[in-house]
Amino acid sequence: ATPVVPAEDLPLLRIEGVSKNFGTFRAVDRLSLDIGAGEFFALLGPSGCGKTTLLRMLAGFETPDEGRILLGGRDIAPVLPHERPVNMMFQNYALFPHLSVWDNIAFGLKRAGMAGAAIDTRVGEMVALVKLDGLEKRKPDQLSGGQRQRVALARSLARRPKVLLLDEPLAALDKKLRESTQQELMELQRRLGMTFIVVTHDQEEAMTMANRIGVMNAGRLEQVATPRDLYEVPVSRWVAGFVGDINLFDGEVASHEQHRVRIATRDGGIIAVAEPRRMVAKTVVAVAIRPEKVKLSRRGPESDAVNSQAINRLDGVITDVSYLGGSTVYKIRLDSGAVVRSSMANTARLEIDTLSAGQRVVAWFSPDDCVVLEK
Ligand code: ATP
Repeated sequence: ATPVVPAEDLPLLRIEGVSKNFGTFRAVDRLSLDIGAGEFFALLGPSGCGKTTLLRMLAGFETPDEGRILLGGRDIAPVLPHERPVNMMFQNYALFPHLSVWDNIAFGLKRAGMAGAAIDTRVGEMVALVKLDGLEKRKPDQLSGGQRQRVALARSLARRPKVLLLDEPLAALDKKLRESTQQELMELQRRLGMTFIVVTHDQEEAMTMANRIGVMNAGRLEQVATPRDLYEVPVSRWVAGFVGDINLFDGEVASHEQHRVRIATRDGGIIAVAEPRRMVAKTVVAVAIRPEKVKLSRRGPESDAVNSQAINRLDGVITDVSYLGGSTVYKIRLDSGAVVRSSMANTARLEIDTLSAGQRVVAWFSPDDCVVLEK
């Protein structure tokens, strides 16, 4: 029998081994996840990985083929979509074109049978909340993209759901507006103390807004972590490659000393990695290191100084330099044939390029900054 867990010990939302098939295709694959009250959670993943399907199951627009969804400790399977304390804001906003801003926001309240005076008060609050004052009588086609987004947000918040689901809420906005709207969404979520679950394929957006991120791939969660842990301690090659840029060296464990693993890389080198986990020799792994953790020194006295046992050093030649404003990215072809990228912050104004294509350099990095990923 299933042990009975008191509702107060459960998270607000518990997804338990949920799957969804479309014909023979499995869009969501035995996925389990807990989300707490007041969290801003992001589901991040490539197109088609099942993010929207998962949201639609939470909203009640799709029925799971297996597993359960508990909200406040109760299985919500029998609860109809509009009766769930869950609301969804759609990617295309799905506003009624023939209704005014006011009536769009009031729509769900009317359908829920709220009294007229209460509706007026609530819609007024929502208009103020998303700063649409003065635009109440306009139709959606008389609004800018950003204003339409606010109407959709107000409408989805009007019934004060416990959980708000946002499917690519900022996709239709340009970069500047997207950034300011991100800040507004975060403020709103904090002020309301509501649980927000946002679907996005934009990692920067997920990292900016969410306190935790679930990375999805092919219907499964690859990793659930804070933005910082996701970036600093990815658990798989896939996550490491999906979130930010990263250098990967394939190899196998050569030896394990105290808190340090030596990896024999496929290109014939040795990379030392600080790794408290005991690792068996010959285990096939990849060493992952972020470009900004790889430093460069010109070959000569400068690089001779980088000679400590505690540092990995690889010789090579710069083949590409990309100036990106805040940082410069260098591509280095190592003597072993592998390619490594180094990103350096432009903390002072660059009067002259000190490093340029064709120069011989030493790329060096600390074992502490490497992550070992098992196959
Ligand atoms: P995107 O970021 O592109 O919206 P997503 O991660 O949200 O992608 P889903 O919309 O959840 O992905 O779709 C997951 C997979 O399930 C896709 O391969 C999609 O083609 C498929 N799928 C979704 N809905 C249906 C459906 N009603 N019938 C058949 N296949 C579907």
